[in-house]
Amino acid sequence: MKKVIVIGGGISGLTCAIYLKLNDYDVEIYEKNHYAGGFLTSWSRKGSIIDGCLHWLLGTKKGTKINKIWDTVGDINSTEIITTESFYDTYYDGEVFHLYNDIDKFEKELYKFSKNDDDEIKALIEAIKALGSPEIPSDLPYELVNPRDLAMDKQILRKTIAYMKISVHDLAMRFNSPIIRYSFLNSLVNEKFNAFYFLTTLANLMTGNASLPKGGSHTLRDRMVNKFINLGGKIFYNSDVSEIIIEENKAKGIIVNNEKHYADYVVGACDVHYTYNVLLKNQYPMDPYVEMNNDKVKYPDYSFIIASYRTKHDFKGEICQLIKVEPYHILGKEYDYLSVRAYDYDETLMNGDYRTVQVMLTTYDEEYDYINKLSDAEYENMKKEVGKLYQEMLEKQYNDSFELLDVLTPKTYERYNHSFRGTFMTYALTPKTQQMVRSMLIDGLDNFVMSNQWLYLPGGTPAAVVNGKFACQIILYKDERDYKI
Ligand SMILES: Cc1cc2nc3c(=O)[nH]c(=O)nc-3n(C[C@H](O)[C@H](O)[C@H](O)COP(=O)(O)OP(=O)(O)OC[C@H]3O[C@@H](n4cnc5c(N)ncnc54)[C@H](O)[C@@H]3O)c2cc1C
Repeated sequence: MKKVIVIGGGISGLTCAIYLKLNDYDVEIYEKNHYAGGFLTSWSRKGSIIDGCLHWLLGTKKGTKINKIWDTVGDINSTEIITTESFYDTYYDGEVFHLYNDIDKFEKELYKFSKNDDDEIKALIEAIKALGSPEIPSDLPYELVNPRDLAMDKQILRKTIAYMKISVHDLAMRFNSPIIRYSFLNSLVNEKFNAFYFLTTLANLMTGNASLPKGGSHTLRDRMVNKFINLGGKIFYNSDVSEIIIEENKAKGIIVNNEKHYADYVVGACDVHYTYNVLLKNQYPMDPYVEMNNDKVKYPDYSFIIASYRTKHDFKGEICQLIKVEPYHILGKEYDYLSVRAYDYDETLMNGDYRTVQVMLTTYDEEYDYINKLSDAEYENMKKEVGKLYQEMLEKQYNDSFELLDVLTPKTYERYNHSFRGTFMTYALTPKTQQMVRSMLIDGLDNFVMSNQWLYLPGGTPAAVVNGKFACQIILYKDERDYKI
């Protein structure tokens, strides 16, 4: 039985490892943290769960290709799937705009708030309906697929192509209705993304393909870990791999905690920047990423500051609220929104009467650079101030009490996941983004495959899980073996 070492036990690493086990390989995962999952994780403060990831999971609808992958690695079809009536509720100058999960209700809601926006609404709804449950390519890795097989259906393309050329910001600005404009700008998808991505997200939400598995991020992670272990896989925690052993242009193994471990293949399932720069000691050019990182217009980094609280305030199942507030400042920038996510739609994420509530703020390069320069004391102080500011805003908004649990920043993601500049989902996919798919192989280095969200922009759980499967397929291809699953 051939042996594979997987570096990193995030979604991509776990997926690759499970598929390899199903195809009879001997597999070991080395994970730097004391837990698996990477970004797919939750943690506890004062007895309350802080869900660190899933805002929605693409692939919850049975029959889609990505659902089959999630079912193979995370038993998603044996899990209760939660869909709320509305996904985002925007509170703006005394009015509420609901982003319903039902397309007919959503259409009616748009017309209700329309201010001569009827033509835009008609085109938008037609495009969402044409998309159905859009999928990302998941049959064969980029290296093994005929590009013609990836061509989009012409009818769908006709109705949606215009949205590929504009950003979410541009789309929002096309609406005269202030509440629709404000909602599109600040709610579902980062405003720098192309509007097509916004539409595909809406389409997946509205066809039940982007819902929430009960139990949240850690429960899905635990199912994946158990699956791997039950198949006979081994996972080593607190194992921060420092180097990939290379002999005669072949990956031979890894060095971790000063010990050498050998295998027939090595899979790099952590951030590609860390793979090239640290694990491969800058010996291989990472041209596409260097070019992309130098062009922040086409490939902007973004991340979050998230402040988490516990409260007994009843959000009555309203999962995400976007509230227009008086302008306030964080890290020198002005904001006029409060983006609140309440975790009381799933009782397993509650702590008695307490539900966890998160306030999310989008950050870009400027904020990362600012935070990066702070001393430890300044950083802690900054987090304290953000936590206090949002606590006061929440208490004023809901006239109830909120207790601070935790504040995380892009530096948190960098520290825990070795993630590039604290990003959690690669770059924003702008209308100008060109290179979406990257090779999983490195020229001049045999027996090494990369598997990570960074190989399919803009990343996210779909890219991570699909690339995990692809990495296994590439190894089978190299071994001239048929793919079993
Ligand atoms: C707040 C938040 C909300 C999100 N919401 C969504 C959402 O709603 N939908 C969605 O699709 N996506 C969402 N995402 C993004 C999603 O979580 C990620 O895209 C996905 O989990 C990435 O998986 P990955 O396996 O590619 O990478 P990672 O999760 O980064 O996994 C890499 C693993 O490698 C480990 N590692 C790194 N270096 C080493 C080393 N040297 N040695 C050993 N191990 C190492 C890390 O610890 C980690 O476990 C969200 C992320 C966050 C933070």
